Amino acid sequence: MRAHPAGPRHGDFVSDSSSTTGKPSAEAVDALAPSVWSRTCAREPSGAMTVGGVDVRDIATEFGTPVFVLDEQDLRSRAREYAQAYRQAGASRVYYAAKAFLSVAVAHWVHEEGLGIDVASGGELAVAMRAGIPGEALLMHGNNKSMEEIVAAIDHGVGRIVIDSFEEIARVAEAAAKAGVVQPVMVRATVGVEAHTHEFIATAHEDQKFGLSAESGAVEEAVRRIAKLPSLTLVGLHSHIGSQIFDASGFEIAAGRVVALAQRIYDEQGIEIEELNLGGGMGIAYLESDDPLDVPDMAAQIGEIVAKACADAGIMAPALAFEPGRAIVGPAGMTLYEVGTVKPVQLDHGQMRTYVSVDGGMSDNIRTALYGADYTVRLASRSSTAEPMLCRVVGKHCESGDVVVRDAWLPGDLAPGDLLAVAATGAYCRSMASNYNYVPRPGVVGVESGEASTILRRETVEDLLGLDAHT
Ligand SMILES: *Cc1c(COP(=O)(O)O)cnc(C)c1O
Repeated sequence: MRAHPAGPRHGDFVSDSSSTTGKPSAEAVDALAPSVWSRTCAREPSGAMTVGGVDVRDIATEFGTPVFVLDEQDLRSRAREYAQAYRQAGASRVYYAAKAFLSVAVAHWVHEEGLGIDVASGGELAVAMRAGIPGEALLMHGNNKSMEEIVAAIDHGVGRIVIDSFEEIARVAEAAAKAGVVQPVMVRATVGVEAHTHEFIATAHEDQKFGLSAESGAVEEAVRRIAKLPSLTLVGLHSHIGSQIFDASGFEIAAGRVVALAQRIYDEQGIEIEELNLGGGMGIAYLESDDPLDVPDMAAQIGEIVAKACADAGIMAPALAFEPGRAIVGPAGMTLYEVGTVKPVQLDHGQMRTYVSVDGGMSDNIRTALYGADYTVRLASRSSTAEPMLCRVVGKHCESGDVVVRDAWLPGDLAPGDLLAVAATGAYCRSMASNYNYVPRPGVVGVESGEASTILRRETVEDLLGLDAHT
């Protein structure tokens, strides 16, 4: 069973759908599907790709490859759309999930467009603080927050700390008491729903590390303990059900269960749940065939689902909150690689596959190796009318599983020195990057209105050697 971002029970759903048959036309292999590429992507008359009004060849020359390119206009427009659509659907706050990708510039952009930020470590909190994001716009997650992280969050006035265990109730209460504040907290409930793309799985219990079980009475017990502690104030419940979700069906089951939980808490303890945070997981198109619900539809459907569940339960509808990550930053990013080697390999059934090696790989995009993720790749430095060939885009690491795009059709005249662009790599690529093989992590370049500038600089071997205590 393959691992899957929505959790282990989704491993079986990872499809091997990428077709190795049915050769597309040369035009199709050159085209930039608007649902997959960031909103300012285009091909200029010479055939080279531009993004944010900047020629990708100029980006490669100035900043080197591999490099992540972040389309500021695309990211800002998606942040704005999420803030508007989910507010309209009843959300009091939409947080950007920082783990997808965070830098000071990105923290500024999402906050300026109306989003709060969900951080899940002291490091992510430090970036948000450096960007000057006020504490009340922040929410902190984590199933094992250190005392240091809890203290830092409380000192900065983080608006919501999401409680993930019984131990944490005591830890947050102690830190808040020491600081002389009353800390607003939420309780993370696991409701037995795991959603991904067009499927969801609903069970009574969840075999995973996050949150407290709704079914077992643990959430009610946590609420009881929090109510007794003067340094804590409960603002609501939290539930996050998965990732890369294309429709609202999983949210329907989850919302029903959290609302039932809120009703039990009210009936038994007289405590009203003011806020319901339904997490993130809204999906994006990695391939042209991916069809996530559009943003306003998804928001409206979830809003109606919760309103109906509350009406059925006879409780007041709480304010909603959401935490999209991938949906804000994923489509805004692309990775530019330079082709190094092109190696045709004869397959058993007579077909040829061409291994195209690029100057990065699993150190800048682990999702293909980890989840069997699919990506769209294009020749970016020029266009081509050459007959397409079946390729596998691979990295430079010492691992045969070091694959960037498992099955891709690329022009048959592809050659060393060509630039390839991989779409929708803004989320969970740079943020999950490693230094495997002592390869420095790529930089991130922002593009906007014809200008390119560094957001995160590329690491150097000197940076890596600087960690080694011996000379
Ligand atoms: C990962 C995560 C998110 C964001 O998920 P996306 O799929 O990027 O939208 C939000 N909330 C929680 C608790 C998460 O773990």
